[in-house]
Amino acid sequence: MSAHERRAHRAILGGLFLGALAGVGANALAGALPQLKGPLETLIDGAAYPVGQVFLRMLFLVIVPLVFASLAAGVARLGDLSRLGRIGALTMGLFFLTTAFSVALGLAVMGFFQPGVGFDEASRRALMESFGGDAARFQPAAGPGSLRALVTAVLDSVLPRNILAAVADMRMLPLILFALLFGSALTALPEERRGRMTGWLDSLSDAMVAIVGFAMRLAPVAVFCLIFTVTARFGFGLLAKLAFYVVLVFGCYLLQLLVFYPFLVKSLAGLSGRLFMRRTVPVIVTAFSTSSSNATLPTTMRVAETELGVRPAIAGFVCPLGATINMNGTALFEGAVVLFVAQVFGIPLSLPQQALVVLLCVLSAVGTAGIPGGSIPLLMGVMAQVGVPPDGIALILGADRLLDMGRTVINVEGDLAAAVCVEAFEARREAA
Ligand code: ASP
Repeated sequence: MSAHERRAHRAILGGLFLGALAGVGANALAGALPQLKGPLETLIDGAAYPVGQVFLRMLFLVIVPLVFASLAAGVARLGDLSRLGRIGALTMGLFFLTTAFSVALGLAVMGFFQPGVGFDEASRRALMESFGGDAARFQPAAGPGSLRALVTAVLDSVLPRNILAAVADMRMLPLILFALLFGSALTALPEERRGRMTGWLDSLSDAMVAIVGFAMRLAPVAVFCLIFTVTARFGFGLLAKLAFYVVLVFGCYLLQLLVFYPFLVKSLAGLSGRLFMRRTVPVIVTAFSTSSSNATLPTTMRVAETELGVRPAIAGFVCPLGATINMNGTALFEGAVVLFVAQVFGIPLSLPQQALVVLLCVLSAVGTAGIPGGSIPLLMGVMAQVGVPPDGIALILGADRLLDMGRTVINVEGDLAAAVCVEAFEARREAA
């Protein structure tokens, strides 16, 4: 990493800390002096929010061309489709194992410490009253009735009739599938014509990476603004009520981040865990401040290629797929919430039921959109399936913005860990 890049990383981290500090300070000040509430709102809506949004939107802007170009070029360059199948199977295996481990970790910690048992009744009623309305908003639409409707819904989510309509809605799975098909089709073209197309796709993705570079120049200020917007408005009083739950979930995140992923990359890819963490700081900060795997994706891909030495063909495949379906932090959080709410309501969950929770959380993490709060509607569905009242989500909604920032970090770090491992497997295979 060059001195310039190190300085840039430090500036982004500085923005994060200063933004959090300023936001918490402003929050406390407005709490003590109510006449400051109005000016603070104006400052947030008129300055902090728009600056944060410019950064976020520049990142969102490049996702569709970037994912399409890098994935299609990557697949075309892999050459033979059996190699794609092998990398695909390896990636999916890693995604599945890490996600299942994460839910099990969340369940084990919550089961052991039981933060919901004996939860103060007055707090429970107050939380349900304050956030019950928000919970109703997240209620998933009534599920499809007939088998035909269900099959059509699944088909629509992966293989739409109209790729442009799917892309216009930022639906990632159809985009990924289309790029895979496109890249595979290119492998059947004569060498010269394929080369022309992959050259064009490379230029397109390089240009998108350059736009991300522009956005990253804004990052220190934008990250300050994003964090300030959240913390200046956050109801910190709630944290006291939910302190045990929040501390436990964050403890699990830290275990994942500081122990599990370093262990994984060390044992499967021979990469020092500490180096992995240090090199992925820009991804951690971007995920934490945007709460969105999708918005972080351009940074994730850049870091995978330039900092972790993952070849574009592999990074272009693993990272977009991971941002869409590999959500370790989300799965962990979902398992923890189901158990916490069950404890508060005094609903015992047997071991087979908890095994079902693991399965459902893995599936719903796959379906979760990589946007802030993307997991909440599906999580309510999981709760309903195992007999925990979905409205109980109201208990944790108020503190969720903070937890969302943490779980998004775990989600994207999981994608990077998988990318590093797949790269190492492939490199070893080629060497053999
Ligand atoms: N915010 C998460 C992400 O983008 C999704 C979620 O768990 O709500 O990865």
